[in-house]
Amino acid sequence: MSRPRAVPADEPARGQRAPDRAARLTLAVERDGPTCIWCGRELTGLVAPTTEHVVPRVKGGPSWPENEVAACRRCNAARGHTGPVQWLAECRGRGWIPDESRLTRALESLAAAIACRGGQRRARPYLDAQLRRLRRSTPAGDPGSAAGPGRRRA
Ligand SMILES: [Zn+2]
Repeated sequence: MSRPRAVPADEPARGQRAPDRAARLTLAVERDGPTCIWCGRELTGLVAPTTEHVVPRVKGGPSWPENEVAACRRCNAARGHTGPVQWLAECRGRGWIPDESRLTRALESLAAAIACRGGQRRARPYLDAQLRRLRRSTPAGDPGSAAGPGRRRA
């Protein structure tokens, strides 16, 4: 049986299916490294990665790779729907070392993706406000004022 097989080597871009949530989380970990964006803990073993939406979905944030970063379950739950820039400051207050450059990159790439793809009318003003806030609150070097050695272990 030698039926000619016309198997397309690769689906053309038009049929592009969005990767599912687990696949996107894996990609985010590969892209950013296996650490929690908020507390910096390594996401291995007992500390499983979860999908963190930079612009919360209740604020209209899309489930796009640009809006998704990896966080540990504890931080993901603790943040709730707090704005990411406010939460960044909150993390520092807790003595954690959040990944500000990752957050900046995520916000900027989401803004670029929205500019390119359009839509997301609800997320736009929220995102703009976060970016403004981030630029205003440049990390004024605050040496030595870390909250002391009271590091909590779960
Ligand atoms: Zn964390």
